[in-house]
Amino acid sequence: MSEIKICCPKCKWEPDGGEYWQCDCGHIWDTFKTIARCPKCHKQHEYTSCVPAAGGCPSSSPHLDWYEGLDQIIEDLKEEVLESQEVFI
Ligand SMILES: [Zn+2]
Ligand SMILES: [Zn+2]
Repeated sequence: MSEIKICCPKCKWEPDGGEYWQCDCGHIWDTFKTIARCPKCHKQHEYTSCVPAAGGCPSSSPHLDWYEGLDQIIEDLKEEVLESQEVFI
């Protein structure tokens, strides 16, 4: 199974576990601990901004784009499914 690496799709900045993200409700937390869901008001954030203050860039990207290796895992799963289907044919 492939490893998932979390980094900014634009500048490759990697979150360092700090609480840099603020929700509309005012709560500040580490968005990668909850897959972009605010732990206080439970809002699901579609976009995640990079953190210039911690060495990142000022752009914002879809949250799932931050997970590098996700496409590879989906490809691996597809292959596994295809392989298991071949067994039954
Ligand atoms: Zn919130
Ligand atoms: Zn960035």
